[in-house]
Amino acid sequence: MFPVTSLAREERVSVLFDELAELTGQRNAIDGRIVDLVAEIDRDQLWAAAGARSVAGLVAWKTGVSPARAQTIAAVAHRYDELTECVAGLTRGQFSLDQVGAVAERGLPGCDSHFATLAQCATVAQLRTALKMQPRLPDPDPEPADRDDEDDDGAEAAAPASAGPVASITSTTDEHHTYWHLALPHPEAAAFEAALGSHRDALLADWTQLEPGQRPPMPTTIEAFLRLITAGWDAEAAARPHGQRTTVVVHVDLADTLGVLHGGPLLSDADRRYLTCDATCDVWFQREGQVIGAGRSTRTVGRRLRRVLEHRDRTCVVPGCGATRGLHAHHIVHWEHGGPTEVSNLVLLCPYHHRAHHRGLITITGPAEHLVVTDAAGQALTNASLARTPTTPPPQVAPCRGPTGERAQWKWYNPYEPPPPTTN
Ligand SMILES: [Zn+2]
Ligand SMILES: [Zn+2]
Repeated sequence: MFPVTSLAREERVSVLFDELAELTGQRNAIDGRIVDLVAEIDRDQLWAAAGARSVAGLVAWKTGVSPARAQTIAAVAHRYDELTECVAGLTRGQFSLDQVGAVAERGLPGCDSHFATLAQCATVAQLRTALKMQPRLPDPDPEPADRDDEDDDGAEAAAPASAGPVASITSTTDEHHTYWHLALPHPEAAAFEAALGSHRDALLADWTQLEPGQRPPMPTTIEAFLRLITAGWDAEAAARPHGQRTTVVVHVDLADTLGVLHGGPLLSDADRRYLTCDATCDVWFQREGQVIGAGRSTRTVGRRLRRVLEHRDRTCVVPGCGATRGLHAHHIVHWEHGGPTEVSNLVLLCPYHHRAHHRGLITITGPAEHLVVTDAAGQALTNASLARTPTTPPPQVAPCRGPTGERAQWKWYNPYEPPPPTTN
Protein backbone atom coordinates (compact mmCIF):
# COMPACT_ATOMS: atom_id res chain seq x y z
CA MET A 1 0.00 0.00 0.00
CA PHE A 2 1.19 3.50 -0.92
CA PRO A 3 1.03 6.21 1.68
CA VAL A 4 -1.85 8.56 0.89
CA THR A 5 0.37 11.59 0.23
CA SER A 6 2.35 9.74 -2.43
CA LEU A 7 -0.81 8.63 -4.23
CA ALA A 8 -2.12 12.17 -4.23
CA ARG A 9 1.16 13.36 -5.69
CA GLU A 10 1.02 10.82 -8.49
CA GLU A 11 -2.50 11.84 -9.32
CA ARG A 12 -1.53 15.49 -9.40
CA VAL A 13 1.39 14.77 -11.71
CA SER A 14 -0.86 12.86 -14.05
CA VAL A 15 -3.43 15.68 -14.12
CA LEU A 16 -0.70 18.24 -14.77
CA PHE A 17 0.84 16.12 -17.53
CA ASP A 18 -2.55 15.66 -19.14
CA GLU A 19 -3.06 19.36 -19.36
CA LEU A 20 0.53 19.90 -20.56
CA ALA A 21 -0.06 17.35 -23.33
CA GLU A 22 -3.32 19.05 -24.29
CA LEU A 23 -1.73 22.51 -24.45
CA THR A 24 1.38 21.19 -26.22
CA GLY A 25 -0.74 19.69 -28.97
CA GLN A 26 -2.65 22.94 -29.33
CA ARG A 27 0.52 25.02 -29.31
CA ASN A 28 2.11 22.83 -31.99
CA ALA A 29 -1.01 23.14 -34.14
CA ILE A 30 -1.01 26.92 -33.66
CA ASP A 31 2.70 27.04 -34.61
CA GLY A 32 1.71 25.05 -37.72
CA ARG A 33 -0.86 27.67 -38.61
CA ILE A 34 1.68 30.45 -37.99
CA VAL A 35 4.11 28.68 -40.34
CA ASP A 36 1.26 28.51 -42.86
CA LEU A 37 0.80 32.26 -42.79
CA VAL A 38 4.53 33.02 -42.78
CA ALA A 39 4.99 30.76 -45.81
CA GLU A 40 2.47 32.90 -47.65
CA ILE A 41 4.27 36.08 -46.55
CA ASP A 42 7.57 34.54 -47.71
CA ARG A 43 6.18 33.38 -51.07
CA ASP A 44 4.74 36.78 -51.95
CA GLN A 45 7.59 38.79 -50.34
CA LEU A 46 5.06 40.68 -48.24
CA TRP A 47 7.60 41.33 -45.47
CA ALA A 48 9.31 44.07 -47.46
CA ALA A 49 6.03 45.95 -47.96
CA ALA A 50 5.52 45.87 -44.20
CA GLY A 51 8.85 47.64 -43.71
CA ALA A 52 10.79 44.65 -42.30
CA ARG A 53 14.31 43.63 -43.29
CA SER A 54 13.54 39.92 -43.71
CA VAL A 55 10.85 37.30 -43.10
CA ALA A 56 12.48 36.44 -39.79
CA GLY A 57 12.69 40.13 -38.90
CA LEU A 58 8.98 40.53 -39.56
CA VAL A 59 8.10 37.43 -37.50
CA ALA A 60 10.22 38.54 -34.53
CA TRP A 61 8.65 41.98 -34.66
CA LYS A 62 5.02 41.06 -35.25
CA THR A 63 4.87 38.05 -32.92
CA GLY A 64 7.21 39.33 -30.23
CA VAL A 65 9.42 36.22 -30.27
CA SER A 66 13.23 36.10 -30.11
CA PRO A 67 15.25 36.43 -33.32
CA ALA A 68 16.34 32.78 -32.94
CA ARG A 69 12.77 31.53 -32.75
CA ALA A 70 11.74 33.78 -35.63
CA GLN A 71 14.59 32.28 -37.64
CA THR A 72 13.22 28.79 -36.95
CA ILE A 73 9.71 29.77 -38.06
CA ALA A 74 11.11 31.39 -41.21
CA ALA A 75 13.24 28.32 -41.99
CA VAL A 76 10.20 26.00 -41.82
CA ALA A 77 8.07 28.43 -43.83
CA HIS A 78 10.76 28.63 -46.48
CA ARG A 79 10.67 24.84 -47.04
CA TYR A 80 6.93 24.58 -46.50
CA ASP A 81 6.15 23.00 -49.89
CA GLU A 82 9.02 20.53 -49.57
CA LEU A 83 8.70 19.32 -45.96
CA THR A 84 5.04 18.32 -46.29
CA GLU A 85 5.09 15.39 -43.84
CA CYS A 86 7.00 17.27 -41.16
CA VAL A 87 4.72 20.31 -41.51
CA ALA A 88 1.64 18.06 -41.43
CA GLY A 89 2.90 16.60 -38.12
CA LEU A 90 3.26 20.13 -36.77
CA THR A 91 -0.26 21.09 -37.89
CA ARG A 92 -1.68 17.89 -36.34
CA GLY A 93 -0.08 18.97 -33.08
CA GLN A 94 2.22 15.96 -33.07
CA PHE A 95 5.62 17.60 -33.67
CA SER A 96 7.00 20.73 -32.08
CA LEU A 97 8.19 23.73 -34.04
CA ASP A 98 11.75 23.13 -32.83
CA GLN A 99 11.69 19.53 -34.09
CA VAL A 100 10.51 20.57 -37.55
CA GLY A 101 12.78 23.63 -37.43
CA ALA A 102 15.86 21.44 -36.92
CA VAL A 103 14.94 19.49 -40.05
CA ALA A 104 14.21 22.66 -42.04
CA GLU A 105 17.54 24.23 -41.06
CA ARG A 106 19.76 21.21 -41.68
CA GLY A 107 17.94 18.49 -43.63
CA LEU A 108 19.13 17.58 -47.12
CA PRO A 109 16.68 17.80 -50.02
CA GLY A 110 14.29 14.84 -50.06
CA CYS A 111 14.70 14.03 -46.36
CA ASP A 112 11.13 14.91 -45.35
CA SER A 113 9.76 11.37 -44.89
CA HIS A 114 12.86 10.08 -43.17
CA PHE A 115 12.82 12.75 -40.47
CA ALA A 116 9.03 12.82 -40.16
CA THR A 117 9.29 9.17 -39.11
CA LEU A 118 12.19 9.84 -36.76
CA ALA A 119 10.51 12.88 -35.17
CA GLN A 120 7.76 10.63 -33.82
CA CYS A 121 10.15 9.42 -31.14
CA ALA A 122 13.24 11.64 -31.32
CA THR A 123 13.82 14.78 -29.24
CA VAL A 124 15.21 17.94 -30.83
CA ALA A 125 18.72 17.04 -29.62
CA GLN A 126 18.44 13.54 -31.08
CA LEU A 127 17.14 14.93 -34.37
CA ARG A 128 20.12 17.29 -34.52
CA THR A 129 22.48 14.36 -34.00
CA ALA A 130 20.77 12.40 -36.79
CA LEU A 131 20.92 15.46 -39.07
CA LYS A 132 24.67 15.71 -38.48
CA MET A 133 25.03 12.11 -39.68
CA GLN A 134 23.74 13.02 -43.15
CA PRO A 135 26.39 12.76 -45.86
CA ARG A 136 28.11 15.94 -46.94
CA LEU A 137 26.97 16.78 -50.42
CA PRO A 138 29.60 17.66 -53.00
CA ASP A 139 29.74 21.39 -53.73
CA PRO A 140 26.77 21.90 -56.07
CA ASP A 141 28.55 24.62 -58.04
CA PRO A 142 32.25 23.86 -58.38
CA GLU A 143 33.91 26.85 -59.97
CA PRO A 144 34.65 26.12 -63.62
CA ALA A 145 38.20 26.98 -64.62
CA ASP A 146 37.27 29.36 -67.39
CA ARG A 147 34.32 31.51 -66.67
CA ASP A 148 33.85 33.90 -69.52
CA ASP A 149 30.08 33.96 -69.58
CA GLU A 150 30.20 36.94 -67.29
CA ASP A 151 29.83 40.52 -68.26
CA ASP A 152 32.80 41.70 -66.26
CA ASP A 153 33.67 45.32 -66.20
CA GLY A 154 36.92 45.78 -64.39
CA ALA A 155 38.42 42.31 -64.34
CA GLU A 156 41.76 42.21 -62.63
CA ALA A 157 44.02 39.21 -62.65
CA ALA A 158 46.21 39.27 -59.57
CA ALA A 159 48.50 36.32 -60.16
CA PRO A 160 50.70 35.55 -63.14
CA ALA A 161 48.95 33.17 -65.51
CA SER A 162 51.60 30.50 -65.15
CA ALA A 163 51.65 30.31 -61.33
CA GLY A 164 48.73 28.17 -60.25
CA PRO A 165 45.16 29.35 -60.01
CA VAL A 166 44.52 32.97 -60.96
CA ALA A 167 42.96 35.23 -58.39
CA SER A 168 40.45 37.66 -59.77
CA ILE A 169 37.91 40.21 -58.73
CA THR A 170 35.21 41.25 -61.14
CA SER A 171 32.10 43.27 -60.67
CA THR A 172 28.84 43.81 -62.46
CA THR A 173 26.18 46.38 -61.71
CA ASP A 174 22.48 46.37 -62.23
CA GLU A 175 19.74 48.73 -61.17
CA HIS A 176 19.87 47.78 -57.50
CA HIS A 177 23.15 46.10 -56.69
CA THR A 178 26.78 45.80 -57.55
CA TYR A 179 27.90 42.17 -57.61
CA TRP A 180 31.48 41.20 -56.95
CA HIS A 181 32.80 37.88 -58.05
CA LEU A 182 35.89 37.08 -56.05
CA ALA A 183 38.12 34.13 -56.95
CA LEU A 184 40.96 33.42 -54.50
CA PRO A 185 43.49 30.59 -54.32
CA HIS A 186 42.98 28.48 -51.21
CA PRO A 187 45.65 30.10 -48.97
CA GLU A 188 44.27 33.62 -49.57
CA ALA A 189 40.73 32.28 -49.30
CA ALA A 190 41.63 30.80 -45.91
CA ALA A 191 43.03 34.15 -44.74
CA PHE A 192 39.85 35.86 -45.96
CA GLU A 193 37.68 33.31 -44.14
CA ALA A 194 39.68 33.72 -40.94
CA ALA A 195 39.46 37.52 -41.06
CA LEU A 196 35.73 37.32 -41.73
CA GLY A 197 35.35 34.81 -38.91
CA SER A 198 37.14 36.99 -36.39
CA HIS A 199 35.00 40.00 -37.30
CA ARG A 200 31.87 37.87 -37.00
CA ASP A 201 33.04 36.69 -33.57
CA ALA A 202 33.63 40.27 -32.50
CA LEU A 203 30.13 41.26 -33.61
CA LEU A 204 28.64 38.26 -31.85
CA ALA A 205 30.55 39.08 -28.67
CA ASP A 206 29.11 42.62 -28.70
CA TRP A 207 25.70 41.22 -29.50
CA THR A 208 25.64 38.78 -26.60
CA GLN A 209 26.53 41.65 -24.22
CA LEU A 210 23.15 43.23 -24.96
CA GLU A 211 20.11 42.49 -22.84
CA PRO A 212 18.21 39.63 -24.50
CA GLY A 213 15.12 41.83 -24.96
CA GLN A 214 17.12 44.65 -26.56
CA ARG A 215 18.97 42.61 -29.11
CA PRO A 216 18.75 43.50 -32.78
CA PRO A 217 18.75 40.60 -35.24
CA MET A 218 21.85 38.44 -34.87
CA PRO A 219 24.82 39.86 -36.83
CA THR A 220 25.18 38.30 -40.26
CA THR A 221 28.22 37.44 -42.35
CA ILE A 222 27.48 40.50 -44.49
CA GLU A 223 27.78 42.70 -41.40
CA ALA A 224 31.05 40.95 -40.56
CA PHE A 225 32.27 41.63 -44.09
CA LEU A 226 31.34 45.32 -43.85
CA ARG A 227 33.10 45.53 -40.47
CA LEU A 228 36.19 44.06 -42.08
CA ILE A 229 36.02 46.71 -44.80
CA THR A 230 35.53 49.52 -42.28
CA ALA A 231 38.44 48.29 -40.16
CA GLY A 232 40.72 48.15 -43.20
CA TRP A 233 39.55 51.56 -44.24
CA ASP A 234 40.11 53.06 -40.78
CA ALA A 235 43.60 51.58 -40.66
CA GLU A 236 44.33 53.16 -44.02
CA ALA A 237 43.00 56.54 -42.92
CA ALA A 238 45.08 56.36 -39.73
CA ALA A 239 48.18 55.54 -41.73
CA ARG A 240 47.64 58.55 -43.96
CA PRO A 241 46.00 61.14 -41.71
CA HIS A 242 45.73 63.74 -44.43
CA GLY A 243 44.22 61.31 -46.88
CA GLN A 244 40.58 61.64 -47.78
CA ARG A 245 38.59 59.32 -45.59
CA THR A 246 35.61 59.22 -47.87
CA THR A 247 36.10 57.61 -51.21
CA VAL A 248 32.50 57.44 -52.37
CA VAL A 249 32.36 60.50 -54.57
CA VAL A 250 29.09 61.75 -56.01
CA HIS A 251 28.81 64.48 -58.61
CA VAL A 252 25.54 66.36 -58.41
CA ASP A 253 24.48 68.56 -61.29
CA LEU A 254 22.54 71.41 -59.70
CA ALA A 255 20.64 72.47 -62.80
CA ASP A 256 19.08 69.06 -63.43
CA THR A 257 19.68 67.54 -59.98
CA LEU A 258 21.30 64.54 -61.56
CA GLY A 259 23.74 62.50 -59.55
CA VAL A 260 26.61 60.55 -61.01
CA LEU A 261 28.92 58.28 -59.05
CA HIS A 262 32.52 59.30 -59.61
CA GLY A 263 33.62 57.22 -62.58
CA GLY A 264 30.38 55.26 -62.28
CA PRO A 265 26.78 55.07 -63.34
CA LEU A 266 24.11 57.75 -63.36
CA LEU A 267 22.15 57.44 -60.13
CA SER A 268 18.40 57.22 -59.78
CA ASP A 269 16.72 59.96 -57.73
CA ALA A 270 16.32 57.50 -54.86
CA ASP A 271 20.00 56.50 -54.87
CA ARG A 272 21.21 60.08 -55.19
CA ARG A 273 19.21 61.18 -52.13
CA TYR A 274 20.24 58.06 -50.24
CA LEU A 275 23.94 58.65 -50.88
CA THR A 276 23.85 62.38 -50.24
CA CYS A 277 21.71 62.17 -47.11
CA ASP A 278 24.53 61.43 -44.68
CA ALA A 279 27.99 62.80 -45.15
CA THR A 280 29.71 59.47 -45.49
CA CYS A 281 30.25 60.39 -49.10
CA ASP A 282 31.88 63.28 -50.82
CA VAL A 283 29.55 65.42 -52.91
CA TRP A 284 30.76 67.74 -55.63
CA PHE A 285 28.30 70.23 -56.99
CA GLN A 286 28.54 71.22 -60.56
CA ARG A 287 26.70 73.41 -62.98
CA GLU A 288 26.99 72.85 -66.73
CA GLY A 289 29.77 70.40 -66.13
CA GLN A 290 31.84 72.87 -64.00
CA VAL A 291 32.58 71.93 -60.43
CA ILE A 292 31.37 74.83 -58.28
CA GLY A 293 32.23 73.47 -54.88
CA ALA A 294 31.99 70.66 -52.44
CA GLY A 295 28.83 70.76 -50.37
CA ARG A 296 30.15 68.99 -47.34
CA SER A 297 30.21 71.90 -44.96
CA THR A 298 26.51 72.64 -45.27
CA ARG A 299 25.16 69.25 -44.40
CA THR A 300 27.92 67.31 -42.72
CA VAL A 301 26.62 65.53 -39.68
CA GLY A 302 29.60 66.26 -37.47
CA ARG A 303 30.82 64.05 -34.70
CA ARG A 304 29.12 66.10 -32.01
CA LEU A 305 25.77 66.17 -33.75
CA ARG A 306 26.00 62.46 -34.42
CA ARG A 307 26.65 61.80 -30.75
CA VAL A 308 23.50 63.71 -29.86
CA LEU A 309 21.55 61.61 -32.37
CA GLU A 310 23.07 58.38 -31.06
CA HIS A 311 22.14 59.36 -27.53
CA ARG A 312 18.56 60.21 -28.54
CA ASP A 313 17.77 57.42 -31.01
CA ARG A 314 20.08 54.58 -29.83
CA THR A 315 18.94 52.35 -32.73
CA CYS A 316 17.44 52.64 -36.18
CA VAL A 317 14.22 54.60 -35.56
CA VAL A 318 12.03 52.33 -37.72
CA PRO A 319 9.72 50.40 -35.37
CA GLY A 320 10.61 46.74 -35.06
CA CYS A 321 14.17 47.24 -36.32
CA GLY A 322 16.57 47.93 -33.47
CA ALA A 323 19.74 47.83 -35.63
CA THR A 324 22.62 49.61 -33.90
CA ARG A 325 25.43 49.27 -36.41
CA GLY A 326 26.43 51.40 -39.37
CA LEU A 327 23.56 53.80 -38.80
CA HIS A 328 23.10 56.71 -41.20
CA ALA A 329 21.91 60.15 -40.19
CA HIS A 330 18.90 60.74 -42.39
CA HIS A 331 17.57 64.21 -43.20
CA ILE A 332 13.80 64.00 -42.70
CA VAL A 333 13.41 66.94 -45.10
CA HIS A 334 16.22 66.31 -47.55
CA TRP A 335 18.89 69.00 -47.79
CA GLU A 336 18.14 69.14 -51.52
CA HIS A 337 14.78 70.56 -50.47
CA GLY A 338 16.21 72.96 -47.92
CA GLY A 339 16.08 70.65 -44.90
CA PRO A 340 18.50 71.87 -42.22
CA THR A 341 21.24 69.72 -40.73
CA GLU A 342 20.01 69.94 -37.16
CA VAL A 343 18.73 67.61 -34.49
CA SER A 344 15.01 67.94 -35.20
CA ASN A 345 15.48 67.22 -38.91
CA LEU A 346 17.74 64.19 -38.44
CA VAL A 347 17.08 60.62 -37.37
CA LEU A 348 19.29 57.54 -37.34
CA LEU A 349 18.39 54.77 -39.80
CA CYS A 350 20.04 51.46 -40.58
CA PRO A 351 21.28 51.22 -44.18
CA TYR A 352 18.41 48.86 -45.07
CA HIS A 353 15.67 51.18 -43.87
CA HIS A 354 17.48 54.26 -45.13
CA ARG A 355 17.46 52.79 -48.61
CA ALA A 356 13.89 51.53 -48.21
CA HIS A 357 12.81 55.05 -47.37
CA HIS A 358 14.52 56.67 -50.33
CA ARG A 359 12.98 54.02 -52.59
CA GLY A 360 9.56 54.88 -51.25
CA LEU A 361 8.91 51.60 -49.43
CA ILE A 362 8.44 53.37 -46.12
CA THR A 363 7.75 57.00 -45.34
CA ILE A 364 9.32 58.96 -42.50
CA THR A 365 7.68 62.19 -41.41
CA GLY A 366 9.07 64.54 -38.80
CA PRO A 367 9.85 66.37 -36.72
CA ALA A 368 12.16 63.87 -35.07
CA GLU A 369 10.44 64.27 -31.69
CA HIS A 370 7.09 63.19 -33.15
CA LEU A 371 8.21 60.80 -35.79
CA VAL A 372 5.67 58.91 -37.91
CA VAL A 373 6.88 55.93 -39.93
CA THR A 374 4.47 54.23 -42.33
CA ASP A 375 4.74 51.19 -44.56
CA ALA A 376 4.12 51.09 -48.31
CA ALA A 377 0.36 51.04 -47.70
CA GLY A 378 0.51 54.17 -45.53
CA GLN A 379 -0.09 52.23 -42.30
CA ALA A 380 1.74 53.71 -39.30
CA LEU A 381 4.31 51.26 -37.89
CA THR A 382 4.60 50.60 -34.17
CA ASN A 383 6.93 48.47 -32.06
CA ALA A 384 4.12 46.42 -30.55
CA SER A 385 3.54 42.80 -31.51
CA LEU A 386 0.21 41.77 -32.97
CA ALA A 387 -0.62 39.62 -29.95
CA ARG A 388 -4.13 40.04 -28.54
CA THR A 389 -6.63 38.06 -26.50
CA PRO A 390 -7.86 35.12 -28.62
CA THR A 391 -11.45 35.27 -29.84
CA THR A 392 -11.54 31.80 -31.43
CA PRO A 393 -11.34 28.44 -29.64
CA PRO A 394 -7.98 26.62 -29.64
CA PRO A 395 -7.37 24.09 -32.43
CA GLN A 396 -9.09 20.71 -31.97
CA VAL A 397 -6.13 18.35 -31.99
CA ALA A 398 -5.03 15.32 -30.02
CA PRO A 399 -2.87 15.91 -26.92
CA CYS A 400 0.88 15.72 -27.55
CA ARG A 401 3.00 13.99 -24.94
CA GLY A 402 6.22 14.89 -26.74
CA PRO A 403 8.79 12.54 -28.22
CA THR A 404 9.59 9.47 -26.13
CA GLY A 405 13.24 10.53 -26.09
CA GLU A 406 14.31 7.01 -25.14
CA ARG A 407 18.04 6.38 -25.28
CA ALA A 408 18.94 6.42 -28.97
CA GLN A 409 20.62 3.32 -30.37
CA TRP A 410 22.83 5.17 -32.81
CA LYS A 411 24.61 1.91 -33.65
CA TRP A 412 21.45 0.68 -35.39
CA TYR A 413 20.40 3.99 -36.88
CA ASN A 414 20.61 4.38 -40.65
CA PRO A 415 21.40 8.01 -41.43
CA TYR A 416 19.45 9.69 -44.19
CA GLU A 417 20.99 9.02 -47.61
CA PRO A 418 19.73 11.10 -50.51
CA PRO A 419 18.66 8.88 -53.43
CA PRO A 420 21.24 8.65 -56.24
CA PRO A 421 20.57 11.09 -59.08
CA THR A 422 18.46 9.49 -61.82
CA THR A 423 20.12 9.45 -65.22
CA ASN A 424 18.27 8.55 -68.42
ZN1 LIG B 1 18.10 59.80 -46.14
ZN1 LIG C 1 16.31 49.70 -39.59
